[in-house]
Amino acid sequence: MNQVDYLRISLIDRCNFNCQYCMPEGAEIDYILKQNLLTDEELLTLIREIFIPVGFRRFRLTGGEPLLRPNVVKLVSQIAQLPETEDLAMTTNGFLLADLAEDLYQAGLRRINISLDSLEPATFDRIAGKAGRSRWPQVWAGIQAAHRVGFDPLKLNVVVIPGVNDGEVLDLAALTIERQWHVRFIEFMPIGNGDLFDGCGWVPSAQLRQQICDRWGLVESRVTGAGPADIFQIPGAKGTLGFISQMSECFCDRCNRMRLSADGWLRPCLLNEAGQIDLKAALRSGVPLAELREKVRQLLGLKPEINFKQRESGTAAGIYTRTMSQIGG
Ligand code: SAM
Ligand code: SF4
Repeated sequence: MNQVDYLRISLIDRCNFNCQYCMPEGAEIDYILKQNLLTDEELLTLIREIFIPVGFRRFRLTGGEPLLRPNVVKLVSQIAQLPETEDLAMTTNGFLLADLAEDLYQAGLRRINISLDSLEPATFDRIAGKAGRSRWPQVWAGIQAAHRVGFDPLKLNVVVIPGVNDGEVLDLAALTIERQWHVRFIEFMPIGNGDLFDGCGWVPSAQLRQQICDRWGLVESRVTGAGPADIFQIPGAKGTLGFISQMSECFCDRCNRMRLSADGWLRPCLLNEAGQIDLKAALRSGVPLAELREKVRQLLGLKPEINFKQRESGTAAGIYTRTMSQIGG
């Protein structure tokens, strides 16, 4: 069994983008009320007193858009300074990164994933869903700032949507030839509001790999914190290509992560809500920390049975209703 030592922490469920596959403009989303968000102190208590003692060592801050969290830089520094933290990373849409990259790096963040679904501003805006002034230039500036400051590895996440951005796969892959950037192609999941692209389906990673291989060739490779991605490289390229194939190849058997939502729910699986624990309610009602640690340990023991595969066989409720931003993507 995989050791589960990796926690994805959602800092906030809100976002400054409206990606069509996540929280499209006008969608009815039950946002978490401010008083129900974990406070910084509660989050740090959970990390120090619960997650580290039961074995978590690697943390990723996500959302919603994590850079919208007030005091995010201070929070990063507090988590980075815990002696047991072996790895601290963030997934962001990059819109606020140009101004924050330096401070985040100084605070101890070293790894960053930035979502970039398109190199074409018009396509980018079609996906990210804001009318008016294009947001692409600012995201690109955020990526450049992260590069300058020294984030390593610097990964770019691309959700591939048929008929929308799948024609750009070679251009996006080419970014890795001259730059030490790591482009990861993610199969589009029809969860939450995913069907807004009119049942356009998803592109299997194998098809993308073939397309890239036909153009340049591909060799197997490695990168820090690859998680469930299969890593390849264009021969001689400085960066790598990752393929995250949760639709075409179930990787539950090697899953090593749990998720903490911004309102304190600990979830063992992205798409299976069985077993989840409301840690915020427990903390606020004074449940002893030792008791909470025991509950989390028990959930860790159950993790192999609570997964995407089980969900497919219909054993879990609540699927396809929550978006990535609500679960903590
Ligand atoms: N706002 C940040 C961002 O976009 O990078 C962090 C949160 S976002 C929910 C995390 C990742 O989930 C992004 O890379 C996003 O593209 C991906 N994502 C969201 N909805 C998805 C879906 N339906 N299928 C596949 N990936 C999805
Ligand atoms: Fe926001 Fe990220 Fe969801 Fe896009 S994918 S709407 S950037 S949380």
